Amino acid sequence: MNIKEKDSLYVANTYGRFDVEIVKGKGSLLYDDEGKEYIDMCTGIAVNTLGVADEGWINAVTAQLSKVQHVSNLYYSAPQAELAELLCKRTEMKKVFFGNSGAEANECAIKVARKYAAEKKGADCNIIITLVNSFHGRTITTLAATGQEVFHKDFLPLTEGFKHAVANDIESVKALVAEGNVAAVMVEPVQGEGGVLPLTKEFCAGLAAIAAENDILLIADEVQTGNGRTGALYGYMKLGFAPDIVSTAKGLAGGLPMGACLMNEKTAGVLTAGSHGSTFGGNPIAAAGALYVINSLTDELLADVNKKSEYIFRTLEGKPGIKSVSGMGLMIGIETEKDAGEVIAACIEKGVIPLKAKNKVRLLPALNIPMELLEKAVAVILEAAV
Ligand SMILES: *Cc1c(COP(=O)(O)O)cnc(C)c1O
Repeated sequence: MNIKEKDSLYVANTYGRFDVEIVKGKGSLLYDDEGKEYIDMCTGIAVNTLGVADEGWINAVTAQLSKVQHVSNLYYSAPQAELAELLCKRTEMKKVFFGNSGAEANECAIKVARKYAAEKKGADCNIIITLVNSFHGRTITTLAATGQEVFHKDFLPLTEGFKHAVANDIESVKALVAEGNVAAVMVEPVQGEGGVLPLTKEFCAGLAAIAAENDILLIADEVQTGNGRTGALYGYMKLGFAPDIVSTAKGLAGGLPMGACLMNEKTAGVLTAGSHGSTFGGNPIAAAGALYVINSLTDELLADVNKKSEYIFRTLEGKPGIKSVSGMGLMIGIETEKDAGEVIAACIEKGVIPLKAKNKVRLLPALNIPMELLEKAVAVILEAAV
């Protein structure tokens, strides 16, 4: 049996895999089992922030690996404390809880919101508003938060207490708030899985006003938009609002499993000893990787992300076969005249690996992708789209 056959036989059938086996890579180049080279416009879904096998990142991770690979959260460990400090200093948030995935970061955000509201406004105040077409994870609670029926069916009943408003429609939020008992509103600055759809600044300002008026918490799900992806450290910074809770994961540790839930002045005191926990959360290897990633996200690198983003928009918009381009930073959705799946298949054939989001071709390249490779990849996408 070859690897593809073995995988089909033994791995749970939860993914529709492309017919490619990736065996190694360097930077923004990937290689399959037959030695074919690809430009990586996916980075494992916005995970490999600095590309594959970045030297500085490898050094940071392996240095920690040779000291100790795991420490129980019942003891102190430097990488976790250093990372929490760094995240707080760069966001003006006050405390961080570490988990291992986006769903887990959102579970923490939801627990914090519920506990805050229960203590301040009473146990009935437990409604969390999320948006139609959102994606917040695959656990039973984060599925309930996810505003897409297709993910719900077959898993009912889900966790109670979620209502869905419409993105960029502030009246739909107001209507749900008027129904009462709203603890929090949770939004993705750019809906990723939903089709790379950014929120507007006006909508975010509206959310902030409603939140302030009603003592409702604002949660930014920055699992995909976080860690430099949008051209700011976190997407909310670009949209100009100040969340009370920020969840992040995907690109945080540059390829190692790590999630984080950041809490501001208002919410930092909500979690107390025993109210939440995670065995692997804040693992020193992942934390060492994340320290390296966050320290690499300098103003220069972020400016570069924005320049590259402008290049992609400029080069694709209005071209034959391209209906529209959406997104922020290096999180881009391309609506093509042809079926997106067909365009993606043609790209892979020509040595470029993008991914899909709804009916769009989605690009999530490494933030440090060399301009020359980006130009090549965009040219291939243009070719594939006609
Ligand atoms: C991917 C994603 C999640 C889920 O993250 P996992 O690490 O797969 O649990 C949650 N929210 C958003 C916005 C995501 O893009």
